[in-house]
Order: sequence, then structure tokens, then C-alpha cells
Amino acid sequence: MTPRILDGIAIAAQIKAEVAVEVQSLAARGITPGLAVILVGEVPASQIYVRSKVKTCGELGIFSEMLTPPESITTAEMLALVAELNARDDIDGILIQLPLPKHVDTKRLLEAVSPDKDVDGFHPVNVGRLQSGQPGLAPCTPAGIMEVLRRSDLSVAGQNAVVVGRSDIVGKPAAMMLLNASATVTVCHSKTADLAAFTRAADILVAAIGRPGFVTPEMVKPGATLIDVGINRVTDAVEVKEFFPGDADRAATFAKRGSVVVGDIHPAAFAKAGAYTPVPGGVGALTIAMLMQNTVTAAKLRRGTSAERR
Ligand code: NAP
Repeated sequence: MTPRILDGIAIAAQIKAEVAVEVQSLAARGITPGLAVILVGEVPASQIYVRSKVKTCGELGIFSEMLTPPESITTAEMLALVAELNARDDIDGILIQLPLPKHVDTKRLLEAVSPDKDVDGFHPVNVGRLQSGQPGLAPCTPAGIMEVLRRSDLSVAGQNAVVVGRSDIVGKPAAMMLLNASATVTVCHSKTADLAAFTRAADILVAAIGRPGFVTPEMVKPGATLIDVGINRVTDAVEVKEFFPGDADRAATFAKRGSVVVGDIHPAAFAKAGAYTPVPGGVGALTIAMLMQNTVTAAKLRRGTSAERR
């Protein structure tokens, strides 16, 4: 059986089109959702992410404001900035681009963002809302995973879902969302004994580990749905050949950029899947779309429109 490719780019485009329609209907009521993005210092990767977030806001009719304090900003100054944004009525979402410089207290800052403007879904109040099934703002990457499953008509209820990785931003919230969707969920991590015994039992396997090609074909149940969250840059020519033997496109990318992106699931394992998210073009493509959706949801929740609460 040929595995089905779950096209994150197409699903993200669908979500963005829906968000644009919602933005238009809010505009008719005089509401323009607004997102503030705080980018501290000059981290090139963060600059790229932030630019594409701001650009997508523009495309969908969401107001955005980028704040770029210098690397030397203190925790107290950042807290004051967040307090100002919390108080502004034209700002519905506040995103603090991570990582922050080491001297800044990241945890304190994330907790200072008003839970109602916490479009990253990292605030403990939103973590609690997710756990207790209340409407709120959920982390974008795991929310994207659920959209991929839902929009691809892959059933979740009653399936054995195994999540490898237990980070606060991906693994734990993904496990909670799968549980809320009535999967039987197992969470694995670096201390899990006989990991392969768990992954081989997975109907839905979510890999959020941060190690290129970690999940090998022997670790996968034939016909399983494989959700690969990993984004790993491989810079070794031999490794690239091992991951993608005979792949001329990847070889050309490597020749041009000196690296290729590899997920946490070994590309050879996809052949055993029933369906899988490719890397790139899978889960990664969804994150910004879900951020846009969260910004609109935040606007609706906070400004008390009659729109349905998620
Ligand atoms: P993280 O915070 O480093 O967490 C990695 C998790 O993997 C940890 O829970 C760790 O276990 C587990 N792990 C590490 N080695 C393992 C092993 N040998 N066996 C089993 N589990 C192991 O990473 P993250 O932030 O969740 O990100 C994971 C991956 O997703 C990365 O490649 C990242 O780039 C990517 N990502 C993509 C997006 C996106 O698509 N937009 C967003 C976020 C992250 P312990 O807890 O025991 O240490």
C-alpha cells in the first residue's frame, strides 16, 4: 500500500483562508485582531520566524506590531513592556519569540502575559484550561497536529497514540489533546525503557524528540499514522546520503545550502506508514497558521463576540 502524504502546506493554506474570512467578519463589526511580537536582540533564526509571522498577519488582515528591544533589555524592562501590551485594547495576542537572552527570566515573562492574550498557549492558566477541557488558547504546534489528523479524516478516538517527547511546547500538550480526542495515549521520553515496544504498538505515532531520523523502520507498526514534528538540520554529507539515498533534490539542496532538514522519523520508516507528515512540508507548515487562528480566537474571546468558543 502506498502511504498517504499528509500535506501540511495545503492544510495550512486552508486554515489561513478560513482565518481571513473570520477576520473579514470581525472587521464588519469594527474589530481588527492585533498581534504584538517581541523579538529581543539579533538572533537570525528568530528574525526569520518573526518576519514570516508578521508577513502572514498582513496577508490575512490581522494588525501586527513588532517590538525589537536590544539584547541588553532587563527582565524588569521586559515585564513593563508586556504590562503595556496587556493593557492595550488593540492587541489581542502577545508573542515573545524564544529563546530570550540568558539574563532574562523567560518563565516569569511568559507568566506575565495575560492568559487571554497568550497566543502561544504557554501560560499555566491555558495549560490548565487545556487539561480541564475549557475554552482557551492552545499551543500552536500540537494544535496543528490535531488539525492535520482532523482534516485528513484520520480517526483518533480509540486509537493507540504514542507521543515520543514530553516538552511543554509540543509533547505534553500533544498528549493532552490526543487524550481529549479520546485516544489511548502513552508518553515516552529519554528514560523510557524499551521505547520500540511502545512505538511499535502505536496507531498514531508523534515524534517530537529533536534527533534526526531517530525513529527507525523497525520501530513502526505497519500502516500507522506517523506525525513527525522534528526539524533537524543535517550538515554531514555522509549522513545526508544515508537518510536520502539516490535523492537528487536533497543532494542539490545540500550542495546549495550545506544542510538539509530531517525530521525525527527516519525517512525510510515512512514507507511502512499508512499516512505520514513529510519534513519539510508537514507539521512545521501548520504552526504559523495556528498562531493566526489563535490570534483571532483571542480577539473573539476577549472582545466578547458571539463567535463560538473553542
Ligand atoms: P525538547 O524540548 O528538546 O524535548 C525533546 C523531548 O524528546 C524530551 O522530552 C526528551 O526526553 C525526548 N528525548 C530526547 N532523546 C530521547 C531519546 N533518546 N528517547 C526518547 N525520548 C527522547 O524538544 P521540543 O521543543 O519538544 O522539539 C522537538 C522537535 O520538534 C525538535 O526537532 C524541534 O525542532 C521540533 N519543533 C518543531 C516545531 C514546528 O514544527 N513548528 C515546533 C517546536 C519544535 P526527556 O524529557 O526525558 O529529556
